[in-house]
Amino acid sequence: MRKYSVALIKGDGIGPEIIDEAVKVLDAVSVKEGFEITYKEALLGGAAIDVTGEPIPEETIEIAKSCDAVLFGAIGGPQWDDLPRQKRPETGLLKLRKALEVFANLRPVTVYDELINASTLKPEVIKGTDLMVVRELIGGIYFGQPRGYEGDEAYNTMRYTKDEVRRIARKAFEIAMKRNKKVTSVDKSNVLEVSQLWRDTVSEVAKEYPEVSLEHMYVDNAAMQLIRDPKQFDVIVTGNLFGDILSDEASMLSGSIGLLPSASLGEKHGLYEPIHGSAPDIAGQGIANPIAAIASAAMMLRYQFGEIKAAERIEQAIKRVLKEGYRTKDIASFDAKEVVTTSEMGSLIAQYASEF
Ligand code: NAD
Repeated sequence: MRKYSVALIKGDGIGPEIIDEAVKVLDAVSVKEGFEITYKEALLGGAAIDVTGEPIPEETIEIAKSCDAVLFGAIGGPQWDDLPRQKRPETGLLKLRKALEVFANLRPVTVYDELINASTLKPEVIKGTDLMVVRELIGGIYFGQPRGYEGDEAYNTMRYTKDEVRRIARKAFEIAMKRNKKVTSVDKSNVLEVSQLWRDTVSEVAKEYPEVSLEHMYVDNAAMQLIRDPKQFDVIVTGNLFGDILSDEASMLSGSIGLLPSASLGEKHGLYEPIHGSAPDIAGQGIANPIAAIASAAMMLRYQFGEIKAAERIEQAIKRVLKEGYRTKDIASFDAKEVVTTSEMGSLIAQYASEF
């Protein structure tokens, strides 16, 4: 039997509620497809601060590194907001990403037909949108040296090496090979040298993937094209800063933050998490939407374990519950037939995912 180990980091707020549903669905599909997942729980964020005084205990890093993948909920909440930066929940998450060396952040954006009115954009513009933003996560201007704030002057440095660009570009092309074989590389090479290096390097890597078509686009134009005609995109690859902005813009095409998953991949490790935060305003009420967490679990099956059939089962089941009109409260105003709780939504997806 195929066996996988998953570090389970539930975190704070709605984190535990939504991760429990993701596990429910994973257990259902693993039985159906004949593999086994064992879980090891670890603390991060506020949950870790309350127990150990640290946002990420050493043990969490060890567990995360020793497992085949990490499934993570969300962290943070008002009770930890006044702590010094080094002690805050977010610092724990940044340290985890760094420790796992996850350099590629993947955010798929799927517009579900049933929720087409949840977006602020016109239905005819977004209908059929299915794209993936691949953002470089541990380099670029967020980490470049020198940086500083001195008197009336402050500065940061956008710096990339060819090796850093090559590895993220390869990731993007590999993903495009499994999708619609088109990569759009986004930069600002008309102004920035670092973007010229980015563009040259992506073009070199493209030669290794003759089946995939490559286009280059300036970031200002990409921001515009994303809302003008998002269907033109398949895989978008870009640096840390541009990716941060464009992936948030792209996520709004689908309308609801409770639906969108993400994956952060390195050479060895993978961290899978919903794009939303810990939603302390609705925690403990059983109304959080677990779909983003469940879809993150599906990404884990696809990208980390290669369990494509099991991933497809989950993706189909999500489409089916939405088609049949089941809605959690956040999306209840869009053609709901029945408003369900977090746990009921998880059970329905688990049931549908193991039915056929
Ligand atoms: P948030 O994503 O937690 O919530 C924004 C809004 O969306 C809220 O109204 C919330 O109720 C709603 N929402 C989010 N996820 C939902 C879901 N699954 N179902 C239904 N509704 C959902 O962002 P925020 O309010 O800016 O931040 C709250 C806390 O989360 C802060 O402490 C912040 O630092 C933290 N945060 C953590 C992460 C992470 O863990 N990766 C990411 C962003 C924010």
